[in-house]
Amino acid sequence: MATQIPSPPKVGMVSLGCPKALVDSERILTQLRSDGYDMSADYAGADVVLVNTCGFLDSAKEESLEAIGEAMAENGRVIVTGCMGNEADLIMKRFPDVLAVTGAHQYEDVVTAVHAAAPAARGAFVDLVPEAGLKLTPRHYSYLKISEGCNHRCSFCIIPSLRGDLVSRRPDAILREAEKLVAAGTKELLVISQDTSAYGVDIRHEPRVWNGPTGQGREVRAHMTDLAAALGELRTPEGQGVWTRLHYVYPYPHVDKVIPLMAERKITPYLDIPFQHAAPNVLKRMKRPANEAKVLQRVKSWRDICPDLTIRSTFVVGFPGETEDDFKYLLDWLEEAQLDRVGAFRFEPVEGAAANLLDGAVPEAVKEERYQRIMDVTARISAAKLQAKVGRTLPVIIDEIGEADEDGDIGATARSEADAPEIDGNVFLRNVPASLSVGDIIDAVIEDADEHDLFGVAAS
Ligand code: SF4
Repeated sequence: MATQIPSPPKVGMVSLGCPKALVDSERILTQLRSDGYDMSADYAGADVVLVNTCGFLDSAKEESLEAIGEAMAENGRVIVTGCMGNEADLIMKRFPDVLAVTGAHQYEDVVTAVHAAAPAARGAFVDLVPEAGLKLTPRHYSYLKISEGCNHRCSFCIIPSLRGDLVSRRPDAILREAEKLVAAGTKELLVISQDTSAYGVDIRHEPRVWNGPTGQGREVRAHMTDLAAALGELRTPEGQGVWTRLHYVYPYPHVDKVIPLMAERKITPYLDIPFQHAAPNVLKRMKRPANEAKVLQRVKSWRDICPDLTIRSTFVVGFPGETEDDFKYLLDWLEEAQLDRVGAFRFEPVEGAAANLLDGAVPEAVKEERYQRIMDVTARISAAKLQAKVGRTLPVIIDEIGEADEDGDIGATARSEADAPEIDGNVFLRNVPASLSVGDIIDAVIEDADEHDLFGVAAS
């Protein structure tokens, strides 16, 4: 008689917050999948719903509580995890029937809670895990988390109190995970952490043996530069190079050493550096790391070495004590730095952050006005930078392919090396070949540009 395989329990997942939380969700789902669970795309079909929360800003907390409320109303069997898991009392008070609350990165606890809520049959027949794990991001790009926590104490941030001090992963474990992802179809790796430049400081940059693509073991230090160089060696099964993007980099002196790797296209010429401000007075009150006067000079020297370098950053306006002169300093700095991609935020106090005790609160109307001014300046810079790309042939990665129109033309949404997924712009392609697939990296001729996006056609 054939072995009866009971249908596996189904887990629903709501993932809120930043890319780091998304990686956590992926890991939880990978584990559950290997434990014999199926995923449910809706509340109704789920035996239990996981809500991976974000507690970074008060507005994110509110969004998390709303998501828990919705999952409770729609399904009623809910497990809460993620950053807000540290506020179990608050959650249980508001939703006393939640099955369990676990904190950020407590994978085993979440998985144990799911096992208790919806036990799964185990065995060879239900081991469904695909090679690179079940992913919430599209298969062709993947986030690669290299450390947890942060040793800094920026006055507006509560991440160190939520997640603790820096804990770096072993370089060989990161590289093995990256190899698995690439073998399973990833073409673009997005390296993330709270402070990528500090990677390995806590483990004294201890080297570990990695076999690498040649299969010959060699030592790789737990250091951003060594890790970036090793990631740059990865090849897809077809022998194509993989894009490697560095996020959350602070401009410590050793960042200079990754720029030549970008110039040689060993890694993607892209740096995401959350500067947050430029005025020394504000940076001091923010207690920002790597707050040094020579950043502009270094940005210039990076561009001399790697002219195609894209720098993305975020800035906060209206931080307590920010004067009109500080703000003008920031605008002048931006004119000088000519950053490629900029996101701006109006300062928002976060419960528990040291910045809440600072004097000099900036009125909301002034914050708004400064926000508009910074957006105007950065949009103008972005438009000019994109315009300068018109006529060039650039490599792009395909994210989505459309349906053929009445003339048979197929359009595609792609990104250049200057565009990280979800946060930067796109390259919209017309008339792409029907043989094109999502995740392909092809050359495109850029025909037009606006403030944020490029438009073009596949190079013949
Ligand atoms: S560097 Fe600052 S803003 Fe970033 S996680 Fe650490 S404390 Fe927070």
